[in-house]
Amino acid sequence: MKTKTLVIGAGLSGLSAAAVLAKNGVDVQVFEKNREIGGRARQFKQNGYVFDIGPSWYWMPDVIEKFFSYFDKKPSDYYQLIKLDPSYRIYFGNDESLDVPGNLNELVRLFDHIEPGSGIKLTNFLKDAEYKYHFGMHEAVYKPAHSFTEFIDRKILLYALKLDFLRSVSGVVRKNFKDKRLIQLLEFPVLFLGATPQNTPSLYSLMNYADLVLGSWYPMGGMFKLIDALYQLAGSYGVTFHTNAPVSEIIIKNKKACGLKVFDSIYTSDFVIGSADYHHIDNSLLPEAYRNYSEKYWHSRVMAPSALLIFLGVRKKLKGLLHHNIFFDTDFDQHAEDIYSKPKWPEEPALYVSCTSKTDPGVAPPGCENLVILIPIAPGLEDNDTIKEHYFRLAVKRFETITGQSIIDDIDFKRIYSCSDFTRDYNSFKGNAYGLANILWQTAFLKPKMKNRKVQNLFYSGQLTTPGPGIPPSIISGQVAALEILKKKNQKK
Ligand SMILES: Cc1cc2nc3c(=O)[nH]c(=O)nc-3n(C[C@H](O)[C@H](O)[C@H](O)COP(=O)(O)OP(=O)(O)OC[C@H]3O[C@@H](n4cnc5c(N)ncnc54)[C@H](O)[C@@H]3O)c2cc1C
Repeated sequence: MKTKTLVIGAGLSGLSAAAVLAKNGVDVQVFEKNREIGGRARQFKQNGYVFDIGPSWYWMPDVIEKFFSYFDKKPSDYYQLIKLDPSYRIYFGNDESLDVPGNLNELVRLFDHIEPGSGIKLTNFLKDAEYKYHFGMHEAVYKPAHSFTEFIDRKILLYALKLDFLRSVSGVVRKNFKDKRLIQLLEFPVLFLGATPQNTPSLYSLMNYADLVLGSWYPMGGMFKLIDALYQLAGSYGVTFHTNAPVSEIIIKNKKACGLKVFDSIYTSDFVIGSADYHHIDNSLLPEAYRNYSEKYWHSRVMAPSALLIFLGVRKKLKGLLHHNIFFDTDFDQHAEDIYSKPKWPEEPALYVSCTSKTDPGVAPPGCENLVILIPIAPGLEDNDTIKEHYFRLAVKRFETITGQSIIDDIDFKRIYSCSDFTRDYNSFKGNAYGLANILWQTAFLKPKMKNRKVQNLFYSGQLTTPGPGIPPSIISGQVAALEILKKKNQKK
């Protein structure tokens, strides 16, 4: 009889885990609480507009390619990937912006133009970042990180010695560059990791290599194409998907997860992967005696930010925008304090604006644009319609001032999504958007463990365990959890 594995959640990590297991002959069923699959990377369509709800930056295409190659497939078997050039625009004020070229030579010239002599520093900085990238994204992330002993490996230790672990990304950037705009450009990518550049270990300057050397890509049709590809891949190996199927309990007998409860039905299993938010799996689906971590533990973690997202369908073509745009026209240090040190709603937040209709005519009706405005906020903030409306007005006004055009009377469609929506839709702890912050003491084997210590056949995957948040790490997380199950299954034979 085939080994049975039940997966909770059909986000990136659940989908990748399901595909890897099914390819290896395991009978896999995936249970997703929402009507649609994709989790934080879902998509919605309204009035002819297409919006990716979560991720919009497709970085590290090599890692995604590597995942598909495990199945003898390529991303191009499922979607068309376009390299963006310029990669993105940063606004520093009403009249000041910088387009970041997708070409490295052009970028070096741009650095020299802004800060004479900084081009060679950039080249050296990126060489170092490349080294970290290969260590981080092609060595470390594939470790299950059960214990630090996995990292006692000659090659990894040699890497670690070179990596200057204790310095922060900000420390390295500010040692080399003085111009405020260049500093902001180089510090921005680590914000994806959920902590300030001052608190992010310098290992993560690997993100600069991903950003500036490997570039920003876009799957035509939207980021959801990746979800759809994983869904097709898993389906081709026979994975069964149940949507509108919230798991309410992991049933434990003799220290084994022997099944899942979904409404009144019980599904039996040999293994379970909890790919929904770790805190939810542990604290809501497991009996207390079998939890890996207490409520107190979770409250002592540093969570990555949540986000306020504004989805707008705009009835005209917009100027002054690229596909990705960052508005650093306000004091980001103050905004960072509002997120990380003294959590509160920010007064003058930085904004990120994505307009995928600049690249893809299929995501908005002819003559229209789809805008997504993202404001990072502290996790756990209370929101309501008045707060949402306030930030909608604030963001639109800033957008209009900076880009010099009015949109308020041309809005065809509007939806605002925030902390409480993350909690309702994904059972997200404190409404976090991106999981745990990647600070030093929450890195690698110091993250919540992928394996339950008390239940032998229960594993966790997703952005709250190793290797962490983001599309490539979440996919890898599912893959590593699946490989751990395959190891256990083979030991039993
Ligand atoms: C706004 C936003 C922007 C982002 N931008 C980027 C980006 O540009 N680039 C990038 O690389 N990454 C980005 N990320 C991060 C990336 O999207 C996530 O790290 C990744 O999608 C997480 O995948 P996951 O499988 O861990 O979790 P999820 O996607 O949350 O999947 C977990 C699934 O479990 C389901 N679930 C929860 N409880 C239950 C239950 N009881 N029963 C059944 N199912 C349940 C949830 O509904 C969900 O579908 C972004 C994230 C957000 C939110």
